[in-house]
Amino acid sequence: MAERRATSAPISEREDPADRPAGLGDPAQPRRLRVLLPLPLSGAFSYSVPPGLELSPGDIVTVPLGRRDVVGVAWDSAPEEDGVPVGKLKPVVARLDLPPLPDAHRRFIDWVAGYSLAPPGAVLRMSLSSPGALTPPKPVRRVLHSGRPPLDCLKLTPARRRALAAAEDGFARSQAELARTAGVGVGVVKGLIEAGALDEVEIVPRLGIGEPNWQHQGPALSPDQASAAADLRAKVDSGFSVTLLDGVTGSGKTEVYFEAVAAALAAQRQVLVLLPEIALSAQWLERFAARFGTPPVAWHSDLKSSARQLTWRAVADGRARVVVGARSALFLPYPELGLIVVDEEHEAAFKQEDGVIYHARDMAVVRAHLGDFPIVLASATPSLESLVNVQTDKYSELRLPNRHGGAELPQVELIDLRRDPPRRDPEIGTSWLSPPLLQALEETLQSGAQALLYLNRRGYAPLTLCRACGHRFECPSCSAWLVEHRFLGRLVCHHCGYGMRVPEACPACGEVEALTPIGPGVERLAEEVSARFPAARTQIMSSDSLQGPADAAELIRRIQAHELDIVIGTQLAAKGHHFPLLTLVGVIDADLGLKGGDLRAGERTYHLLHQVAGRAGRAERPGRVLIQTYDPDHPVMQALVEGDRDRFLALEAEQRQIGGWPPFGRLAALILSAPDPDVVDQAARLVARSAPTLPGLRVLGPAEAPLAVLRGRHRRRFLIKARRDLPLQRLLRRWLTGLDLPNSVRLATDIDPYSFW
Ligand code: ADP
Ligand code: ZN
Repeated sequence: MAERRATSAPISEREDPADRPAGLGDPAQPRRLRVLLPLPLSGAFSYSVPPGLELSPGDIVTVPLGRRDVVGVAWDSAPEEDGVPVGKLKPVVARLDLPPLPDAHRRFIDWVAGYSLAPPGAVLRMSLSSPGALTPPKPVRRVLHSGRPPLDCLKLTPARRRALAAAEDGFARSQAELARTAGVGVGVVKGLIEAGALDEVEIVPRLGIGEPNWQHQGPALSPDQASAAADLRAKVDSGFSVTLLDGVTGSGKTEVYFEAVAAALAAQRQVLVLLPEIALSAQWLERFAARFGTPPVAWHSDLKSSARQLTWRAVADGRARVVVGARSALFLPYPELGLIVVDEEHEAAFKQEDGVIYHARDMAVVRAHLGDFPIVLASATPSLESLVNVQTDKYSELRLPNRHGGAELPQVELIDLRRDPPRRDPEIGTSWLSPPLLQALEETLQSGAQALLYLNRRGYAPLTLCRACGHRFECPSCSAWLVEHRFLGRLVCHHCGYGMRVPEACPACGEVEALTPIGPGVERLAEEVSARFPAARTQIMSSDSLQGPADAAELIRRIQAHELDIVIGTQLAAKGHHFPLLTLVGVIDADLGLKGGDLRAGERTYHLLHQVAGRAGRAERPGRVLIQTYDPDHPVMQALVEGDRDRFLALEAEQRQIGGWPPFGRLAALILSAPDPDVVDQAARLVARSAPTLPGLRVLGPAEAPLAVLRGRHRRRFLIKARRDLPLQRLLRRWLTGLDLPNSVRLATDIDPYSFW
């Protein structure tokens, strides 16, 4: 199948080739054409199509722009009345030999641009995210076994024999690769080429892709799982639908949606699986490979540019049948997309916060709608947005209420830090572990099981203070404290990356040895754990301790192989991993995420703590979760103890409904920023003066952003709250276009904001 697809132009989504708009008008006359360029500030431009050039919408072309030729996409035929006579338009230079952007994909780009108020060119740029993908890959030289004996003059030394033996498998390798495989010098390989025993050939590189085998059997499903799987399978190839797959952690959601993946593959459709954090997905990739006999095609920001290029092409020409990726994978040009799965759909990581600001889950639903195929949203803790869509019958729902194999959900207990505070130990110093948690740790280690201590704070301490003069270390270009990273010996800004060495003396008063860390981060917690449990094998799991997917996979392997006893993790450790020996989860500071004025603080804290609690007792051994809090009566804590998610979310929903907050009302944020605080204030006043006034719309602000300075730019925020039935984008566009802001002022629009700093 791969071969057939690679050579023929793919059919754009379910369209009959005969239905594709033929060329644009009479080929004997120059015609007008709008071409969208992948430029951050642009809409489509008009060009003329010279006679003889056959172009259809979606074709990838080169056009002149200024003095350069740039790549763009034929968008639509331009209306006559756009001013410039066709004879005056610059002509399209050429059509590139690439599959056209599918129709549904172009409509998707326009839709996202319209919704997010981003220029269409900026959205197109995400789709052509690999500039090199558009130029044909350069042929490379490879060596192959020639099948002929070497010329007589060449003596078959052991090294030469090894090189020939290594080439016997028929794979084409570079000279260096073959030499490395055989453990010989490159000179040996060169000698064999000269003697005719190896052939040198030029080949065009392609992504090596296995064909997922949908006929491969999955595990026998439980009755619940089987009926959910049957429902999803029936939805494949039956038009647009959204299904929320709501099942407790460990209930087999992945096994169930794999059935839908198999059905889509059987129907000759491409599949996209979006995961919040592809770097942490080694276990998922392994499971996929076990189920379908080959790994999926992965798309993420760590791909090297050559791999990006090959992957983009493999998606565009339809060879890549299953793509797994983070949010940006949504913008690849799938010609035959027929199913999207968004796993952990509640995750905030799906929200892209800079450039084109969008929520990948919500845009994925739009993509499925435009492509007329099903989408599955999976979570153990669905977002309020999705649950409300189920209640209003926009989405259908499948529930998996039980863990697979009867594993019990862990028992959750609160530790009231007002009653049971951690005790300072003369040897160890300040402590973050309360007596009940310490005791539970002790018991867990004695029983030969593992524990996870969860603290969502990187580094050693979030604040460093001078005991002599009270000086606090602050980032010079952000309004944020510097976080000590003791392992690196540095104070670091988590917002802009600024860092400095931890000084010997206070820079304000000169006092030596007076700098004191305030509060814990994972490094400081690890220090205490190592001091108290010196025999336990302890390891930190945070984005600082893991440099990439390979590191993460190795750490997960070590935990599973019981090479570690205590893992101290940030939210990286909370995500879908399966650790059979992990029976205790201790949450160090459950109140951390509840501070600040975030609309979703309660919901998000609930999600995170529920997810991290779900790491405990995934196999035969029952799990226990201890949550340290100063606020045990908080509805989030009560919901966790009672395991009553639905009541908590109902309460949360009720409050949002009363206040008109999302998902019951609509929200947008405007963020103005400039290096000069006076300039940004002036600009904010200008924006405020032209704000629309109408019933059902409230403009809050301008206000200094909670993070008032970021990377040297002063920030002011507006929040726009609108009734659901108001055309929010149209109102914003009318308000914001034509505003005469100074060049130094940036204005970012965030529709459906998730972050409020
Ligand atoms: P979820 O995605 O809901 O957290 P998973 O699909 O990861 O759940 O399933 C949890 C564990 O149970 C996995 O190790 C999975 O392989 C196993 N599992 C789930 N369903 C079955 C089944 N029907 N047969 C065998 N193993 C299963
Ligand atoms: Zn900073």
